[in-house]
This record gives sequence, C-alpha cells and structure tokens, in this order.
Amino acid sequence: MLWVQSLGGDEFVVILSELGSLEIDAAHGAETACSKILLTLSHPYQFEDLEYKITASVGVTMFCGNATGMDDLMKQADLAMYRSKAAGRNAAQFFDPVMELTVRERAALEVDLRRAVEVNEFVLYYQAQHKGENQLLGVEALIRWQHPQRGLVPPDQFIALCEDIGLINKLGNWVLYTACSQLARWAERPEMCHLTIAVNVSARQFHHVSFVDEVLGFIKQTGADPRKLKLELTESILVTDIDNVIAKMSTLKSRGICFSLDDFGTGFSSLSYLRRSPLDQLKIDKSFVRDVLTDHNDAIIAKAIVNLADSLGLNVIAEGVETVGQRDFLARVGCHYYQGYLFGRPLPLDSFESYVAGLDSLVTS
Ligand code: C2E
Ligand code: CA
Ligand code: CA
Repeated sequence: MLWVQSLGGDEFVVILSELGSLEIDAAHGAETACSKILLTLSHPYQFEDLEYKITASVGVTMFCGNATGMDDLMKQADLAMYRSKAAGRNAAQFFDPVMELTVRERAALEVDLRRAVEVNEFVLYYQAQHKGENQLLGVEALIRWQHPQRGLVPPDQFIALCEDIGLINKLGNWVLYTACSQLARWAERPEMCHLTIAVNVSARQFHHVSFVDEVLGFIKQTGADPRKLKLELTESILVTDIDNVIAKMSTLKSRGICFSLDDFGTGFSSLSYLRRSPLDQLKIDKSFVRDVLTDHNDAIIAKAIVNLADSLGLNVIAEGVETVGQRDFLARVGCHYYQGYLFGRPLPLDSFESYVAGLDSLVTS
C-alpha cells in the first residue's frame, strides 16, 4: 500500500506499508519503490512548448508499528534526503547506513546471481546417507556456487534470494537434471548403481504448475531410475493447497520417486496432512541432533519424531550426526539412518566417488 502526501514546496512524503515482516525484505521493497519513483520522474515531460526534466532526491527510513514517533521518522527521512542531495541527487539513501549497505549488497548479489544462473556457475556436492554404522545407501545433493572471485558460496547465501527474484525454478531444474544424469551414469557402475540421490526442492519450485512434468521429463531424458530419486520437501510445502500438493506427490510417487520431509520438527506440520501425504521418510533436523546428548528436550523431541514416523509407517533419518555418541543415542531410540560429518562431509563428485571406492576396498580387503 502506498500513500503520497505533499509537505508543501517541492517535498513529498511517501509511506509504504505491508512491505514484509523481515526488515531486509521491507528495505528491499523500499529500494525497489524508490527506483520506480526515480525512473518515472526522470522521463522528460512537455509543458506548453517546453520540455522539462526533473530529478528527485529520496531519503528513506524504516519503521515498524509505532516504535518511533512521527516527528523522529520525519527527521530521519529528512536527514537521509539531504545526504542523498549531497551525494549528487537523483538517488535514494537510507537513514541507517548499515541498512543502506545491506540493501546495496543485496542488489549487487542479485545482479551477480542472475549472471551466474545464465552462465551456470553451480556445482553439486554429495553427502553420504548411511544405514547403520557402515552401509552406504545414497547421497543428498547439495548445491554450491563457484563464484569467480568469492570462491565456493554455500546455498544459505543465495537460495532464499533465488526464490525471491524468481530464479529458483531455473536453478532447481538444473539441480534435478544434474542429479538425474548422475543417477543414470552411476547405474552403469556396479559399485555405485545402488545409490539414491536426494534433491532439495524449495516450496516455490514445488508449487510451480509444471513441476511434475519437469521432473518426469528429466527422468525420461536422462534414463535415470525414478526409484533412486528422493525429493526432500519442507514442512512449509505441506501447509498450503494440500490437495494439490498430495496430487502432485502421488503422481510422482506412482512413477517410483520417493519423498523425505526435511528439517522435520522445525516447522508446523499438521498430523492429518502428514498422514494423508504419500511421504516415505521424516528427516530429524540437525538442530535437535546437535544437543541430543546434553539437552533433555532435544532428546525427547528426537525420540518423539522416531515414534511418530513409526506409527505413520515412515522411515526416519537423522541429519547432522557428528559423533558416535549421537549415532548411538539415535540407534537406541530406533533411528538407523544417518547423515552427517561422522559419516562424511559433502564432497565434490570425484572426491565422493573416491570415497566410495575406498569403502569398497575396505569391504573387499
Ligand atoms: P539442508 O537440506 O538441511 O542440508 C543439510 C545441511 O547441513 C547442509 O548444509 C550440510 O552441508 C549440512 N551438514 C551436513 N552434515 C552436517 C553435520 O554433521 N553437522 C552440521 N552442522 N551440518 C551438517 P548446506 O550444504 O550449506 O545447505 C544448506 C541448505 O541449503 C540445505 O539445508 C538446503 O535447505 C539448501 N539447499 C542445498 N542445496 C539445495 C538445492 O539444490 N536446492 C534447494 N532449494 N535448496 C538447497
Ligand atoms: Ca535437505
Ligand atoms: Ca535439513
């Protein structure tokens, strides 16, 4: 929502509301609005027989509820506006310099990310998923951005932005296609052919109208065995439009693809949705595994998730398993599938394949 009010002379105040609950999202929304205002004002206009051009200097301050009084907000915006004039006009400045920097960095990252998706600067790492102490069942594919200057950038630094700026389908499709191609290549190697690949699917990607067709298309194009593909969904996917979600899952499931519910315990799952959806696995979030030996509540939660999975007829895997103690605790409460540094870090393809070759020589020697 946008309110514009003249303050007299050549000054106007614009109030933008409902820009989001996160400060950074709201700041980004404000930045976008400023760009639009500056662009619109920059168009030349005709008055009688003369052409005029105007520029504007914008000062931005953020507010949430009534925490800062009206007078203070106006002073902050005014100060920011004078900084903007001093900086050369026809620009916007934030009152809070830290916010200013964050917004600029995000804008630069956005440009960089769009370029990276075009030229494909991404790579998949593979992290082992084990049953019991030493049976390797498969991997989780985890994306990294191979940035020419910044080196390997972890997904936490770009996936959310990809979702916000509408790039997640393109990137997610690349991940799915790459994972399916990998499955097809491993199918021809006796030491690798039993492995499954779990792929993370973001909510936006899953809800896209052509998601199911795209997944089935990649299976067909690559010749991958769909029974070796596991899609990791998050609880947020199961909270909206559940009938449609279940229909999509069921179509994929009927082709052999299976589903794991990632980060389980951190979101809001409805038990009836859990029961209705064709899931195969719950994945205990690493935040519970981390302190399972020292925090009584985390131990109770881990145990409850195992029991819940049991009663829903699902299998259960724990992520973030770093120590033998954590693994033994999980085994005692009935969780026998594990992923974590204890078994192996996420590795690039060639290192992961060497790791598997090493496991084989251990078994055969
Ligand atoms: P996630 O799906 O929960 O993945 C597990 C994260 O835990 C990974 O972080 C992994 O490197 C890390 N991890 C694995 N073992 C351990 C351990 O023993 N201890 C600890 N402390 N951490 C461990 P990573 O690779 O940085 O990925 C972060 C998140 O980015 C993932 O969390 C997932 O939500 C997202 N992500 C990764 N790849 C993709 C992708 O292809 N598509 C989408 N949409 N999201 C992805
Ligand atoms: Ca995951
Ligand atoms: Ca997880």
